[in-house]
Amino acid sequence: MDIELFRRHGHEFVDWIADYFMNVEKLPVMSRVEPGEIKKRLPAAPPERGEPMERVFEDFKDIILPGMTHWQHPGWFAYFPANNSPASVLAELLTAGLGAQCMVWQTSPAAAELEETVMDWLRGMIGLPGGWSGVIQDTASNATLCALITAREASTEFESNRRGARDPLVVYASTESHSSVAKAVKIAGFGADNLRLIPADADFAMIPDRLEEAIVEDERRGLRPCAVVATVGTTSSGAVDPLRPVGEICRRRGLWLHVDAAYAGTAAVLPEMRRLLDGVELADSLVFNPHKWMLTNFDCSAHFVREPGTLIRTFEIHPEYLKTGRDAVVKNYRDWGIQLGRRFRALKLWFVLRAYGVEGIRDMVREHIRLARLFQSWVGARPDFELLAPVPLSVVCFRWNDGRKNEEELDLFNRKLLDEVNASGRVFLSQTALRGRFTLRLVVGQRTTEERHVRQAWELLTSAAERLKA
Ligand SMILES: *Cc1c(COP(=O)(O)O)cnc(C)c1O
Repeated sequence: MDIELFRRHGHEFVDWIADYFMNVEKLPVMSRVEPGEIKKRLPAAPPERGEPMERVFEDFKDIILPGMTHWQHPGWFAYFPANNSPASVLAELLTAGLGAQCMVWQTSPAAAELEETVMDWLRGMIGLPGGWSGVIQDTASNATLCALITAREASTEFESNRRGARDPLVVYASTESHSSVAKAVKIAGFGADNLRLIPADADFAMIPDRLEEAIVEDERRGLRPCAVVATVGTTSSGAVDPLRPVGEICRRRGLWLHVDAAYAGTAAVLPEMRRLLDGVELADSLVFNPHKWMLTNFDCSAHFVREPGTLIRTFEIHPEYLKTGRDAVVKNYRDWGIQLGRRFRALKLWFVLRAYGVEGIRDMVREHIRLARLFQSWVGARPDFELLAPVPLSVVCFRWNDGRKNEEELDLFNRKLLDEVNASGRVFLSQTALRGRFTLRLVVGQRTTEERHVRQAWELLTSAAERLKA
């Protein structure tokens, strides 16, 4: 493509994105296409000759857009948010233009040094101890995998001095932990049998005494307890595992503690929410996702470690073709994770932090929490709806229940209620299971969500419930 053409289309596309931001509310949140519908409209083979950008763009609008679910819609209440922002999108454009591959310091010194700087900023923003260091990974799943591989390595280094044991290593997490923990246990080779899911209390938080009992039992059987993954902000209900007692157990018994705060970590920017991370100084690593609730478009996951030595010893490689004269004095982030090639993710985070400021991010998070509590109060005030979990942050778990149906009928009714509300195209909520019950889940976290959108969700839910009951 000719550069002047690029300039013209670039302006046009930025205009399109600005209009999209302004008008996304008018689109149905969840795509309405049927399976296979998009693929049917795409040719089986690529074009032999290049096509004009106008044609490609027309097809983008005509074929691709209807197959998109709109995560930036203010009626987004499903899963967790993946909120972006104009500042982040502009930075992504610059990143693409630079096209740099930032595997080591010299392949772009600014990328390495900006990453170090913004991770230090983030560390301070969420109140992690001063000596911790951070690295940007693609996702929390990958960060947790890196943490568990590092824990395995640390335990092996330690054990090989002692007894060179070959017994299986064991990982602990609560029954409410994210599926990425089980996946990491599989990939890292612990073996699915060596993941213990520790029971949670009535508020869905890990019970520390049960953790300790499980560790003692495994030691008694000759296994080697290796790592605990504590969740701050569980995916189902936003529950918070108590880091201090869990951390004390880990320190006392020599286990690695990794904190999965993928969603809730952002809330620690609020002084009144710092208690979420109380005891974090006892942990070895933590992950949270600026790509969920901090205005930075996917992907960008912040992985922190108490001391980087073990992480680097686990992942470093030194082939001749990657050596440089500066390796002793610079950070080469290829040694801080699995991938060699790295995107320049720090740039969008830097743009976001500067465009909004810490106060701007705090304002957004505070407002989202306020809106979730408002919704919680409406649910609590209706006799035919019930809350199914506490609301520590911005996740509300609830269902319709007029007290006259059995559990099976309630599951069915609430499933229908969810489908009906989502079919409106105005909002999108998702579901989970809590104590085996079908649970509706409303999460406030989209940048542009206002009180009127939350109110609309509630009106859609109550009116659909009336219709379904009749
Ligand atoms: C979203 C989430 C994850 C997975 O995050 P990815 O970045 O998509 O891998 C892991 N843990 C928790 C608690 C989450 O909420």
